[in-house]
Amino acid sequence: MKKLIKVLLISILGLLLTAGIVLGVFIYKVTYGFPIYESDPPELPSEMADFSILLFNKTNGFRHGEAIEASTQALQEMARQGGWTIFTTENGAVFNTAQLRKFDMVIWNNVTGRVLKEDQKAAFKSYMENGGGFLGIHGAGDNSHHWEWYEKTLLGANFSHHTMNPQFQEATMHLQCDSTANFQCNGLGAVWQRSDEWYAFFENPASNGFEILYTVDENTFNPSGYIKFLAEDKDFGMGTSHPIVWYKELPGGGRTFYSALGHSAAHYKENQHLDMLKKAVLWVGNR
Ligand SMILES: [Zn+2]
Repeated sequence: MKKLIKVLLISILGLLLTAGIVLGVFIYKVTYGFPIYESDPPELPSEMADFSILLFNKTNGFRHGEAIEASTQALQEMARQGGWTIFTTENGAVFNTAQLRKFDMVIWNNVTGRVLKEDQKAAFKSYMENGGGFLGIHGAGDNSHHWEWYEKTLLGANFSHHTMNPQFQEATMHLQCDSTANFQCNGLGAVWQRSDEWYAFFENPASNGFEILYTVDENTFNPSGYIKFLAEDKDFGMGTSHPIVWYKELPGGGRTFYSALGHSAAHYKENQHLDMLKKAVLWVGNR
């Protein structure tokens, strides 16, 4: 009997230890990622349409697997209808000056972690400083990238947390249509109710010169990311003006657009969401 209890205790201890290690590795991966880099650039299609998009799906941090699959399909269908070329890759070596030059814009589709080597980062930065286009989707705006220029210049805000109480909530978004802005928001829903995992940021990108396209009303959901023992300091939101989609024209003619929407596959079947993404693509690509 004593032996049985001993075996039981050791088993429970072993299970707890394994669960702890698994959780620790997961938290590290989500926050920092495990950097894996590429050096050999992919081969691009020999023929590219007049409007060509680089769809970058690489993740070294958390992988929104189903969302990446669904969004890729949706964007490819959009490209097919529009007669655009969309080149999909997870190869970071495509971020070189010669290949980037062939694209009107780059989409970071739920890209997480440290995904580019220093020379690849420099090529991307130079591309954006010389009139390139960037569209970031959902996970592309989290805190796993550890790249100051990317966070400050392209995203315009530092990610704090996402909703956890509960993770997915129905909330109401409000269009902030600035009629003087270059981005044409006519046709987008003024009030938009939907469910998602909502992101919260430490600062409002409006204070970094970004135009807000949508806010999400914190009276309609609980923005807290509080998790007992793990994230007890994340029990806050962004106040009455909680930005969730924004954009900016950069010096040098580049354009950047970020949307925090789209954790799940189902979100890439929402017509309003697809309409907004299409508008974003056309604006970022300067069409
Ligand atoms: Zn997510």
